[in-house]
Amino acid sequence: TIAGYKAVLLAADALPKFLPMLTTAAGTIRPAQALILGAGVAGLQAIATSRRMGAVVEAFDVRSAVKEQIKSLGATFVEIPNQENLEDKGGYAKQVSAETLAKQQQLLHERAKLADYIISTAQVPGKPAPRLITKEMVADMKPGSVIVDLAAESGGNCELTKAGQTVCVHGVTIIGPTNLPARMPLDASRMFARNLATFILEITNEKGFTMDWKNEIFAGTCVTHDGEITR
Ligand code: NAD
Repeated sequence: TIAGYKAVLLAADALPKFLPMLTTAAGTIRPAQALILGAGVAGLQAIATSRRMGAVVEAFDVRSAVKEQIKSLGATFVEIPNQENLEDKGGYAKQVSAETLAKQQQLLHERAKLADYIISTAQVPGKPAPRLITKEMVADMKPGSVIVDLAAESGGNCELTKAGQTVCVHGVTIIGPTNLPARMPLDASRMFARNLATFILEITNEKGFTMDWKNEIFAGTCVTHDGEITR
């Protein structure tokens, strides 16, 4: 949540233009065009923050379940024709085949040419980040445009991202932040503490740990029991 929010602030700061549409004595300024890749926790927050700041937003994900969520935030869902829903039973994305990835890159190439900024958050748990933005796509982006690659630490959604650095290629600024929640420590700590407290209350009672294996949160997070590795 924090990374998605902060990514938009980083993009706005690096952009040579306003995010909202402005009608001023010096004429009308068109709103910024945003493209958000991956609409999980970070991506949805990036969409919401971009919309609050007045950008026009398109978003893309391989899970069709997020289409309604994207639309409810006032963004347009970028659809790949005949794309199968790539969601696993746990609600996470499955890794895409090389053929699907090539189709995605082709479609995104056209959308990237129009974008003032891209925030990329695409990730499949435990896998390297999908390479959605090629160097050819970057070369075709508008000079002055910005990419904030939240997947920088797991290899980057953009081929040219350098983790922990900001680079400029073909006039495009590519930012690869690695620990954005640390830049908002007060709310990061509050949210983390609330999650932990709720978790502990879920798996304990007045006598201690409930060891309830039917509780999917307990069973899914317990890593070792009775001398055995359980996950
Ligand atoms: P998440 O699992 O909720 O969301 C990832 C989204 O990517 C999912 O909606 C998934 O369907 C989508 N996706 C997977 N493969 C895709 C593909 N090929 N094309 C399009 N979409 C695809 O994860 P999250 O919590 O939103 O985190 C997103 C990323 O941001 C992760 O890489 C995470 O490590 C990173 N992150 C970075 C920072 C930072 O400071 N840089 C902080 C927090 C999270």
